[in-house]
Amino acid sequence: MTDLSQRLRSEAASLDQQDPLKHILNDFLLPEDCIYLDGNSLGPLPKAAKTRAKTVVEQQWGDDLISSWNKHQWIDLPAQVGAKIAPLLGAEASQVIACDSISVNLTKVLCAALHKCDKSLVLSQSDNFPTDLYMVQGLSDLLGKSKCELVCIDEDEILSSIDKYAEQAAVLMLTHVNFRSGRILDMAAITEAAHRHDILVIWDLAHSAGALELDLNGCNVDYAVGCTYKYLNGGPGAPAFVYAAKRHLNDIRQPLSGWMGHKKPFEFTQKYEAGQGVRAFLAGTPQIISMSVLDASLDIFNGLSAQQIREKSVSLLGFFEACFDALFLPNDGFICITPSEPCQRGSQLAYSHPDAYAICQALIDKKVIADFRAPNILRLGFSPLFLRHQDMLEAALRLKVVMENKLYLNSEYQVKHAVT
Ligand SMILES: *Cc1c(COP(=O)(O)O)cnc(C)c1O
Repeated sequence: MTDLSQRLRSEAASLDQQDPLKHILNDFLLPEDCIYLDGNSLGPLPKAAKTRAKTVVEQQWGDDLISSWNKHQWIDLPAQVGAKIAPLLGAEASQVIACDSISVNLTKVLCAALHKCDKSLVLSQSDNFPTDLYMVQGLSDLLGKSKCELVCIDEDEILSSIDKYAEQAAVLMLTHVNFRSGRILDMAAITEAAHRHDILVIWDLAHSAGALELDLNGCNVDYAVGCTYKYLNGGPGAPAFVYAAKRHLNDIRQPLSGWMGHKKPFEFTQKYEAGQGVRAFLAGTPQIISMSVLDASLDIFNGLSAQQIREKSVSLLGFFEACFDALFLPNDGFICITPSEPCQRGSQLAYSHPDAYAICQALIDKKVIADFRAPNILRLGFSPLFLRHQDMLEAALRLKVVMENKLYLNSEYQVKHAVT
């Protein structure tokens, strides 16, 4: 055991030494001794975000008051932030805008897509993140099934389902990286297959943006949405983003036609006229404080390529698995439900275990922050910018202590919290 951990330790040290992103580690503030494997759910605090929060509240809001809309270009933030996200998506600046949440933005892009055809079915994977399905259900209740009806399909049968529903399907709405298993769907092939039947395609990039290489323009994606509080480290409740293909930009019709999406909001006219391009997805006043914090956080990505980020993520996952395989025995009860091929998975590993919830709680007590996803999944996220290979080994070693001593059987770890 000591020989083994010694060997893994020197391997980790050498991988960390060669890490081309090691200079970024220092841009984040994390508690002492904490191994944060939940950056896929809430990214940690960048130093620059903390500084910007103080500036935007104290100087901009506090001192400059309403003049900040012009003086500090608050009014430009949704487009400015969109432009910073665009290169990570394989998109141009004019195609991305920051606003609202994924849930709200999904409603907008669903309506924009449904508006363009007279078919009504919206296909989505049955184990999609629930809010995605809920939003289609809500829209269906509002518009009626003749205009919008949800059909859940199996993630293993997407291509055959496209053929099956070719005549009736208007929209295919998929999450690119499954939030439980971490499995990646083939964006290029699926989008192309759907387009062959005139089905518009919406991708949810919640677990992709900031962790994977994306090529939305190259894949001809129609619309995409994503959040910024996961791998983009924008902070709790940070605004989401919307992407639209260039071919749709001059013709965006969405029902949340608020004044910020109007062609000329400060003319205060009575009739709504949609603004130019992706701006038409704006509805109300932007969340300036959180958008400013996000704007500062995104500067970390400046000068990094999505390929470098992806390579670091693949290396971290591979090394964690090597540690896990070396330290754990099959009878510890973990079953990895994440695909084993690096090209088929995002930046997380998910293990099912009958005691997953209690194990996760015991692990958190050991300062390894992971999360639990019902019904029985321990989910470990490997957000690549602030983690080191030595953290992978240390996390595996602390998990081993939890398992060997059966610490998870402790009654305090059985109590379910409101947020898991
Ligand atoms: C995290 C996540 C969301 C969150 O949606 P919000 O409306 O921004 O809270 C949506 N979809 C997926 C796939 C997610 O993982």
